[in-house]
Amino acid sequence: MDFYIEGLNLAAFEYRCKTFKKSFRFGERFTPWNCPHCRSGRLIAKQESFIKTNEQVFLDAEEVIFSFSGNFDCDTCHNKTSTIGHGAIRTRYDSDSETGQCHEWEDETCLPTFFSPQVSLFQPVQGTPASVVDALNRSFMIAWIDISASCNILRTVVEKLFNEKWPDIKGKTLHRKIEALQRYSVEDPISMKVCTYLTAIKFLGNEASHDDVLEERDLAVAFELIEQILITLYDSRQQKLDVWAKMVTDAKGRPIK
Ligand SMILES: [Zn+2]
Repeated sequence: MDFYIEGLNLAAFEYRCKTFKKSFRFGERFTPWNCPHCRSGRLIAKQESFIKTNEQVFLDAEEVIFSFSGNFDCDTCHNKTSTIGHGAIRTRYDSDSETGQCHEWEDETCLPTFFSPQVSLFQPVQGTPASVVDALNRSFMIAWIDISASCNILRTVVEKLFNEKWPDIKGKTLHRKIEALQRYSVEDPISMKVCTYLTAIKFLGNEASHDDVLEERDLAVAFELIEQILITLYDSRQQKLDVWAKMVTDAKGRPIK
């Protein structure tokens, strides 16, 4: 289903805008990531915990670019997470809406390309099998440096999912296994939706075998699809809601006994 607004395919536009690489600024309360040690704390960037190297000044563009390395602190368990990456300082201009006066300020942003231990791009729901989480973590680990390889590992995540969730479904290829699951799921719209998501990840994984075909947005969407699959399959609250919705629908609004 496409969503069009004044001729613009909104869904396609949003797809093209998807990202997973986030940047941070010193001085902001939190960075975008959770702590990989305790999983619940938020990572904090303190200026004194980082060093900058290889500064290059571009006067024309009013920009300085640099490399950095350092450690994030966790606001909860206080463990450290190492990172490296690159950043930029750009001159920005604002005007005061009341006085009309223009003032100049420096906007410094830092984009990590590596974390140790690896941060998660999303937290798999409780109950997700360990083999699936392990493969997912490997995908997270290289997402910043090799999009195709990371997407290829997501295909492995789907294979692990079949081993854990549907061990009786056989097939020489992942394509055949998904087809078999679709045949079992004809009467079940929730499983059919999962099959559609699995198929999309399979196609992206296939494309990942060709160099430089995939872009950040493809991997960002693949991560969201995997996250939703895991919620559908393993989140107990989601499963309960699915059952309740079916009970009410089957009863056509009559009281549930
Ligand atoms: Zn922590």
